Amino acid sequence: MTIVDFKEQKEARRRAEWERLVAWQERELATARRVLEVLEPIVNQLLKQKRVRARHPRCEAPGCWSTITTLHPVQGRTSDDALSLVALCARHLGAVRSGRFRVNADDADTLSWQLYDRPDAPPCLQIKWPRRRASKARARRRPR
Ligand SMILES: [Zn+2]
Repeated sequence: MTIVDFKEQKEARRRAEWERLVAWQERELATARRVLEVLEPIVNQLLKQKRVRARHPRCEAPGCWSTITTLHPVQGRTSDDALSLVALCARHLGAVRSGRFRVNADDADTLSWQLYDRPDAPPCLQIKWPRRRASKARARRRPR
C-alpha cells in the first residue's frame, strides 16, 4: 500500500517537473518571438538600405563617401569603353574639370590619381587607388 503511494508520488513529481519544463520552454519561446518581432523591421530596413547602397555607387575619388555620382570617361577615353568610366561626385568632377585632378584607368582594378597645383605644372601628388567594387561589377557586367 505504501509502496504504491510512493510510486504515485514519484509519478506526480515527475509530471509536475515535466509541466514546469514545458512552461519554461513556452516562456522562452514567447521571449524569442518578441525579440524577433522587434528585430524583423530593423533587419528589413537594413536589408533595404543595403539594396539602396548597392544601386548608388560611391564616388571613386580616394576617401570620398558621396553616393550622388555620375559616370564620366577618364581623360583620353570615350564612354564606349566601360572600364574607362569613373563614378564621380559633383565636387570631384569639378576638381577634374578644373584641372586640379587627373584620373587615368591603368587597368580594370586600379585608377591613378594625379593632383596638380596649376594646370601646366607637373603633378605634386600621384597615387594609384583600387577601384570601388560597384564600378568593377558594373564594368564586368557589360560586354567588351
Ligand atoms: Zn567625391
